[in-house]
Amino acid sequence: MTFAQLNMNQTLLHAITKSGYTVPTAIQAGAIPHILNGKDMLGSAQTGTGKTAAFALPIIQRMQENSMVISRRKHPRALVLAPTRELALQIKESFQTYAKYSGIKTVAIFGGVPKRQQIQSIKRGVDVVVATPGRLLDLLAMKILTLDAIEYYVLDEADRMLDMGFIPDVEKITAKISLPHQTMLFSATLPASIIKLSKAMLDNPVRIEVAKDNTPLETIQQSVFYINKNDKTSLLRDILLDASMKNALVFVRTKQGANRLTKAMQHAGIDADAIHGNKTQSQRQHALDRFKQGKTRVLIATDVASRGIDINDLSHVINYDMPETADTYVHRIGRTARAGREGRSVSFCSAEETHLVKAIQRHIGMMIPVDASHGYAQPKPTHAVRHQMPHARTKEASSHDWKRRRKPSHKRASRKNTMRTQHARGGW
Ligand code: AMP
Repeated sequence: MTFAQLNMNQTLLHAITKSGYTVPTAIQAGAIPHILNGKDMLGSAQTGTGKTAAFALPIIQRMQENSMVISRRKHPRALVLAPTRELALQIKESFQTYAKYSGIKTVAIFGGVPKRQQIQSIKRGVDVVVATPGRLLDLLAMKILTLDAIEYYVLDEADRMLDMGFIPDVEKITAKISLPHQTMLFSATLPASIIKLSKAMLDNPVRIEVAKDNTPLETIQQSVFYINKNDKTSLLRDILLDASMKNALVFVRTKQGANRLTKAMQHAGIDADAIHGNKTQSQRQHALDRFKQGKTRVLIATDVASRGIDINDLSHVINYDMPETADTYVHRIGRTARAGREGRSVSFCSAEETHLVKAIQRHIGMMIPVDASHGYAQPKPTHAVRHQMPHARTKEASSHDWKRRRKPSHKRASRKNTMRTQHARGGW
């Protein structure tokens, strides 16, 4: 299957080639023909499957086909709602990339920054608005824009919207769209409340589910480390000091935890930055940009701050604190192994957290392989059967210096030690 076979027009094919995409992902192959045909859509797809392009490409094409692109002030023709500022910005960037040769103008609007610049962008003319619900409602109340020309409406990460309490805002926004429109709802999971919402919003939708074979879980080499709570920082430091580990997104439960851990890693000479809800929008964006550009190797994040973050080439996700729900686990580790790349996820599990691992394993229908070859290993709880994933790579964990290290003194690793690790490395 090629993008040309999906009837993408020349300007889009040009932009797709420039983006380096050669073949459509499963969700793109499934969704694009229906969206081009004007159908409503209920898509259940995890992040990392290429779902943004699955809706952005056909929307751009339909906008080009259905009338001339004029970029009117105040009256966008497409609206995409996203739960977080970071995701809104990423979706905007995707639209801008794909619409580069079409003249379509996209604006992102989200809270946490002054309204002025967003208002000016809308006044300069806009075709596609990508918004978080709260700021959009503010600007609608100020009559900076209206939804009276919306023809295409996308609700992205609907389950996250639900978790974050945005559904009443979404309903208010939906009620303000006056023209008949094509609606697409995407969600990683489809709990009953999302199905109910979809029934209210969608007209005879095509339902697309990304086949399990293509879910990121299968391309991620997962492992769990049973460890004492007090040893987690030392193990993290050892793992991150291995220079062969390209980059890592580290998840922690609290903002304070993120700050504390970032300081500890920086103290050990590791390029780390934190991203959480107490940081300003520009601090968060700055940290994210530096990480994406490879200027920092490690980003330490809370779940809310990291939602929807798209990092093209992320080698590792580390669960420093185990996630509270299985869905969050799937979401977190789905940041790596995107679009066909390989990735690893490493979960630190203390005695207090073993019930969470159990729940995750039930949810994903597999045992997470236990890695006990590190210097801090605790006996695995009885439920944790050692099990090798069918596609797990065979590279031996014990080839890593940090794993052989004995329980450390809490001193900084010496430069000599780090250098040796670099030579002896083989797998991170
Ligand atoms: P998404 O699921 O929309 O967050 O996309 C995940 C990543 O896959 C993004 O970095 C996209 O740029 C990339 N991507 C989307 N479609 C393709 C494709 N057909 N081929 C290769 N990469 C893609």
